[in-house]
Amino acid sequence: MTHPIPQLPYALESLAPHMSRETLEFHYGKHLQTYVDNLNKLIIHTEYEDMPIEEIIRTAQGGIFNNAAQTWNHGFFFQSLTPFKQEIPARLAQALTENFGSPEAFVQTFSQTALTLFGSGWVWLAADGEGKLQIIPESNAGNPLRQGLKPILTLDVWEHAYYIDYRNRRADYIRAFWEIADWQKMENRLFG
Ligand code: MN
Repeated sequence: MTHPIPQLPYALESLAPHMSRETLEFHYGKHLQTYVDNLNKLIIHTEYEDMPIEEIIRTAQGGIFNNAAQTWNHGFFFQSLTPFKQEIPARLAQALTENFGSPEAFVQTFSQTALTLFGSGWVWLAADGEGKLQIIPESNAGNPLRQGLKPILTLDVWEHAYYIDYRNRRADYIRAFWEIADWQKMENRLFG
């Protein structure tokens, strides 16, 4: 099975000025493409060759895990962004209030977790089987599917995600992320 590059649901230039076309050309067009190509090369003639990507993420180690998770994580991340600024839908707002005190408190805690994550990684919002929400920092290619959790949102805090637009200013990148976060997608994932 050849894994395709996850599709972008918007044009490369449509997230500017929060995320530039140049960032997407490199981040989506080069970094993600490399993970997809590596995954497809590494799984040939292994037990992972015909496995769905989520199952590879749950069971593989080393390079196969890293490239499978980076492929999936980036698709999920890019599909969590939208050119159209949104209000937080009511059901999602209520879930965030129940779990974190308020939607604003969720944004603040998630942002602080992203700011203080050391090195390269991802910050996740994920739900357990009862729908309880957790903010989970993961290093490198980490993904909460491995803990049996349902991913709701992720933010890429590898330097390659923000260095073109924001240089070393991760805090500015995190602030911009909330301008393009797709809250409707998050609600659909949580309740879907
Ligand atoms: Mn990335």
